[in-house]
Amino acid sequence: MDSKVSQFVTDASEAESMAKSLSLPSVNHLLPHLVDSAQSLARPSISNFHVGAVGLGSDGRVFFGVNLEFPGLPLHHSVHAEQFLLTNLAVHRCPRLLSFAVSAAPCGHCRQFLQELRLSSSVEIHITADSGDRKDAIFKPLSEILPNPFGPHDLLGQETPLLLESHHNRLDLSTLNDASNTRNLCNGNSNVEKLSNGNCEKHDFDEALLRKSALEAANSAHAPYSGCPSGVALMDCEGKVHRGSYIESAAYNPSLGPVQAALVAYVAEGGGGYERIVAAVLVEKEVAKVKQEDTARMILKAISPKCELKVFYCHSAKN
Ligand SMILES: [Zn+2]
Repeated sequence: MDSKVSQFVTDASEAESMAKSLSLPSVNHLLPHLVDSAQSLARPSISNFHVGAVGLGSDGRVFFGVNLEFPGLPLHHSVHAEQFLLTNLAVHRCPRLLSFAVSAAPCGHCRQFLQELRLSSSVEIHITADSGDRKDAIFKPLSEILPNPFGPHDLLGQETPLLLESHHNRLDLSTLNDASNTRNLCNGNSNVEKLSNGNCEKHDFDEALLRKSALEAANSAHAPYSGCPSGVALMDCEGKVHRGSYIESAAYNPSLGPVQAALVAYVAEGGGGYERIVAAVLVEKEVAKVKQEDTARMILKAISPKCELKVFYCHSAKN
């Protein structure tokens, strides 16, 4: 998708001209000015507490993050704005987050989630709720609001790629022609015609495209703690595919599941209501200590009951 037309990603040149037009000395100073716009895009349908986070990537692009809540599901399936922000960077292959402005103080869960970034302690944060004057926004490093962190350095070697760092999990689906490799979990609705939400005939199910996208997402997953990567690809009723990679946290509980990651992509890429999602593919290992299948089915059943979920099992590529 052309990032120029996305509300959730702004090109570097566009961000620079926005800063100039407001007579701001840098794009970093622009971030607090965009927090209100980010907040307006949040989907907090349980709390009605809109959180917006606006981050600057090392490539000069500006990214939005918002909170997503899902009625009908336990609260821990929610996506926090900072999690959305990091996932948005991952979806758009931005290698590093330099700083961000956020509407409310990051919760402990998000301070922990941010630890998955290399040099996380130096990420600069500005909390707009603490400051009336956005012209002279003060940024503080994450290390100031989360001293004595527990993080990847406690569990992983220095050489292990962290979140946003380029890596490939070397997963394959080479036994695709074997029907036993596929499990059809259609959320109790196996009638394909009923899955279209009335607007999907042209695209039907481009299952090969969804499968390929989900495999790519699994190959980009950040799962260094469990060794159980996974990825999800969603198709909306216009045939657009949105994919998300599972993201683990060293503290386990703040981890972000692959369905949530794909929903971040769906929202960031202009997706409307979740009922417009008509098909989904999950790729994960068949035998794994961490499995996403049942949770993925539960989430999709709650937010998009007509969506069909298919699961494909991957394995480590040989050689
Ligand atoms: Zn949070």
